[in-house]
Amino acid sequence: MKIFDVVVIGGGPAGCAMALDLNRRGYDVALCDQAKFPRDKVCGEFISPGADPILEWLGVLASIEALAPKRLKGVAISSYESAELEIDYPVSTETGLRPSSLSVPRYQLDALFLKQVQNAGVKVFEQHKVTDFIFDDDCVAGVHGWDENKTSFSLQAKLVVDAGGRNAVSLRKFNLKQEGNGKIAFSAHWQGVRLPDDYCYMHVSRPGYTGISSVGNGRANVVLVVDRSALDGKKAETLYHNVLMSNCRRCEMLQGAERVEPVRSVESLAFAVKPVPCGGLVLVGDAMGFIDPFTGEGIYLSLRSSQIAGEVIHAGFQNSNFSRKFLSVYNARRQEEFGDKFLLSRVLQWLIYNRPFCNGVMKRLSTNRVLAETLVGVIGDILPAKKVVSMKFLLRLLSTRRGANGQ
Ligand SMILES: Cc1cc2nc3c(=O)[nH]c(=O)nc-3n(C[C@H](O)[C@H](O)[C@H](O)COP(=O)(O)OP(=O)(O)OC[C@H]3O[C@@H](n4cnc5c(N)ncnc54)[C@H](O)[C@@H]3O)c2cc1C
Repeated sequence: MKIFDVVVIGGGPAGCAMALDLNRRGYDVALCDQAKFPRDKVCGEFISPGADPILEWLGVLASIEALAPKRLKGVAISSYESAELEIDYPVSTETGLRPSSLSVPRYQLDALFLKQVQNAGVKVFEQHKVTDFIFDDDCVAGVHGWDENKTSFSLQAKLVVDAGGRNAVSLRKFNLKQEGNGKIAFSAHWQGVRLPDDYCYMHVSRPGYTGISSVGNGRANVVLVVDRSALDGKKAETLYHNVLMSNCRRCEMLQGAERVEPVRSVESLAFAVKPVPCGGLVLVGDAMGFIDPFTGEGIYLSLRSSQIAGEVIHAGFQNSNFSRKFLSVYNARRQEEFGDKFLLSRVLQWLIYNRPFCNGVMKRLSTNRVLAETLVGVIGDILPAKKVVSMKFLLRLLSTRRGANGQ
């Protein structure tokens, strides 16, 4: 049987970025996805501006731009029904311009990504569900699964990358998932939403928050995240509509608009992942853990974590070493790069569910544009998280004095 250099499980952003990266480095790569593309995915669908250079490097940005996608100027936040505070991404010191974030339906984005992978020469197996691993001693050496005809298949490889998302086969097989917050998210596209400008509109209020942004063609994506307990036997659609309309700011935007598809949901949002207990296996993207989508950077994190993994895997090939210890360098580098960002996400999670603090911080941000744009720059992955994960920034955020810039 043919032995691939690498088999990638999953054709979402993480798996496609991984396959393209390794293909460029000259490796013989196969990618399996259980779905037939195009397929949909519950997501806020806006991509941090920090992802643009990676998408360009992977050769996908031009085809995304060819769709004439929506681009957003930043984030507009409303705290407990206050007027939305529109915050632009900060001016880039390199270009002197303000970056923007892509807002593209995943149905289109992921299909386009997979096409790029196929065009690059990666062997793509759609409708191939991986159910188990092949082992050589204590190292993963390939995958087993079922195709669309319920025929079993096996692929051997020197290394396997699991990019299977939040329900990745590795998480089940090795019991790696550490359940996080009991949240549930609902999403649907709407027609005719009255959005004042090109921002991602985040409305924070009880019992959760929403993200509303235009995705082009007159459509907007409306995502709601609430505690799992809010469902309490109610029908998903009823809860979704009732909560959306219970906030006067949202209600204004959605009045007269029409939902154009069924409401989709995904449970138990944030979770952490224990280290992989064997060699020959690397996890990327959501399979590596998931932070609550309030800051909306999962796609960037997936792309960037695949880039880091690509460097470590390349070093593994050069050293003929795919041991657990060697590959753990990837985990360490990922944590080093994203540790502050994960911490910021946890702080923001706490903040948005604490009404007095949330209102206080929003008031502060409204009087200090530099502070506000710095925060949004970090969230958009264009500024390093250490800029805001500091006592100095925290004190400035909680201070009641007006900004030194007089705003
Ligand atoms: C409510 C919500 C809102 C979000 N909003 C945003 C946002 O606005 N911006 C942002 O950047 N991120 C957002 N995210 C996060 C983002 O969606 C994820 O981080 C991103 O999709 C992760 O990509 P991935 O490739 O790791 O996984 P996925 O996109 O989930 O892809 C995994 C792929 O693996 C395949 N697969 C799974 N198991 C198997 C198997 N056993 N065999 C074969 N194939 C398999 C699946 O079919 C799928 O195609 C949001 C997430 C949620 C839940």
